[in-house]
Amino acid sequence: MRTIGLIGGMSWESTQLYYRIINQQVKQRLGGLHSAKVNLVSVDFATIAQLQHDNDWDGAAAELSKAAIALESSGAEALMICTNTMHKVADTVTQQVSIPLLHIADATAKQLLADGVKQVGLLGTRFTMEQDFYKARLTDHHGIDVIIPSSAQRELVHSVIYDSLCQGQVKQQDREQYLEVINDLASQGAQAIILGCTEIGMLITPKDTDIPLYDTTEIHAKSAVDWALSG
Ligand code: GLU
Repeated sequence: MRTIGLIGGMSWESTQLYYRIINQQVKQRLGGLHSAKVNLVSVDFATIAQLQHDNDWDGAAAELSKAAIALESSGAEALMICTNTMHKVADTVTQQVSIPLLHIADATAKQLLADGVKQVGLLGTRFTMEQDFYKARLTDHHGIDVIIPSSAQRELVHSVIYDSLCQGQVKQQDREQYLEVINDLASQGAQAIILGCTEIGMLITPKDTDIPLYDTTEIHAKSAVDWALSG
């Protein structure tokens, strides 16, 4: 089994889900007392969120690069950035190390294509929904069309992530508003919805809607276990 390196803490609410899913998967696949070989470097999310909102992506990349270097020297054999948003700086971070990055959008696209989904709605932070580092990867690398919510809806989805979910608050009112956004995306032709922020699975689960959901936390964590057990 290979050692997975997690850059976590963005937020720690979702990093704990990564840790649990990765270990549950290893136990399910290998049985008995087996558990995953995981190294974690967890950052202070207040620092990262400030850099994001100050548009200081070089500063954010420097913080994550330090984490990546620490993971490589700790013996981790691959890197996971446990957030969709921070894949904006994935190229810079991977240039600092020689171990591979398991990319969250690639893992998600692989699952969508395996299920025959070619047109998808995307929920995430404003950065993820609006900028090309994520959407263009899905479209240009994988041929998947991406529909995003309206500007007002993007604002709502973004603030729920930072003001509620990343602070561990799961509210019925937020769930209802998210479901309206999801329904709108479906009425525009989305065959499925990417929960493209690693905390959204705390709020919306398959029992809330008939529209297929692709929870990036779960998909990314499972893809890490596929990788760890294949070497
Ligand atoms: N965890 C979130 C994501 O997947 C948001 C936190 C962040 O900005 O990194 O994008």
